Amino acid sequence: MAYRGRFAPSPTGPLHEGSLVAALASWLDARAHGGQWLVRMEDVDGPRCPPGMDELILGQLERLGLRPDEPPTWQSRRGELYQAALDRLIASGQAYGCACTRAEIAAAVGPRAKHGELVYPGSCREGTGGRPVRAWRLRVDGRIDWQDRRLGPQSQDLAAEVGDFVLKRADGLWAYQLAVVVDDAAQGITDVVRGADLADNTPRQIALQQALGLPTPHYLHTPLVLAVDGHKLSKQNGAAALDLSDPAARLCEASRRLGLDIEGGPRPAADVLACALAQWRARWP
Ligand code: GLU
Repeated sequence: MAYRGRFAPSPTGPLHEGSLVAALASWLDARAHGGQWLVRMEDVDGPRCPPGMDELILGQLERLGLRPDEPPTWQSRRGELYQAALDRLIASGQAYGCACTRAEIAAAVGPRAKHGELVYPGSCREGTGGRPVRAWRLRVDGRIDWQDRRLGPQSQDLAAEVGDFVLKRADGLWAYQLAVVVDDAAQGITDVVRGADLADNTPRQIALQQALGLPTPHYLHTPLVLAVDGHKLSKQNGAAALDLSDPAARLCEASRRLGLDIEGGPRPAADVLACALAQWRARWP
């Protein structure tokens, strides 16, 4: 199948050093495989996305010379697709309505939380007992084994470590897991290249692909850029927006974070990209 990759930022803030690494890696991998590279705005969580941030990110990518092959897409405009997928999962008995509040779930599972998320104990699996449905969940079962191009063989016991996870939230917003799986399939994405912080979301996405009868793309999770406090660099811990007065310098830094050996010095961004591409080709065939 012809390679199709994507960069899928959540437009909650401008690109920073960490998100540039994901953008660059996905672009390099697509170009190295003679493939297409798409940009998708993951703005399902509308309240967290300030107006105009999407256009700002698109402008940053343009300035860096990272140009998508198709017009960008916005998840906020694709709710019907997500609803159709949820309807299919409900009809096949793989998704179910859940009436539990967060407090009830916390009380049922005790303090065992993973990444701040509670492993849902399955209280509504057999029905809500007449209580109104708040959220929709996927019924999960067993372990998912998968292969990452950088991290190698991976495995997660979804039932024990994650539990039946949310597809549509109690506030009516679509969960990232459902939107990303539906869109990757609808856009024919063959290869997902993104930051390693998302690696432990991959088994949930594979479970959803299997439940919906969709293909599983290849995955490559890139090294994370850490903040001084050792946490993933993010808007929350003060990642600064990229200074794009010198796009080539930013691309050099991001390339080095990907383990590429790119020399600094004044030159056009396109030169840095060409140099990084030659090295990426050799490293990630
Ligand atoms: N929107 C997600 C983020 O910005 C990335 C999703 C993905 O690449 O699958 O963290």
